[in-house]
Amino acid sequence: MADKQKQVIMAVEDNEDNRDLIIKILSHRGYDVIGVSDGSEALARLSEVVPDLILMDINLPGMDGYEVTKRIRHDETFAEIPIVALTAHAMRGDKEKSLAAGCNAYVSKPINVHTFPDVIAGLLSGKNR
Ligand code: MN
Repeated sequence: MADKQKQVIMAVEDNEDNRDLIIKILSHRGYDVIGVSDGSEALARLSEVVPDLILMDINLPGMDGYEVTKRIRHDETFAEIPIVALTAHAMRGDKEKSLAAGCNAYVSKPINVHTFPDVIAGLLSGKNR
C-alpha cells in the first residue's frame, strides 16, 4: 500500500505566532507546510519547490503580498497554483486588490481555525477539476 503523497502548502507570513498557528493547523490536516517570513524568502524557496497552494500574507516587510503574488504569477510554472491572500485589513477594496494581483481567494485574519482548513481543502480539490 503506497503512502499518499502529501500536498505541499507554502505559508508566507511574517508574524511568527500566526505562521506557527497556520503550520500547526495544516500539518494536523496532513499537509506538508513550508513556512517563510517574507517575499524574498518565498521567491527563493519557489526556485526549489512547487507547492500545491500558497498562503500569502498581504502585510509583509519589504515587498507586500500583492507584489510577491504578481512576481509569482509572472512565472508560468506558478500560473495555476491557488494563492490565498491573508489580511487583517477589513478595508473595502482589499479583496478586489488581491484578486487583481493574481490571488484566487481571500481570507481575513484572525484565521478561523475551524473553517480555515476546509477553505484550503476546497481550493486544493478545485485545482484538480
Ligand atoms: Mn504580516
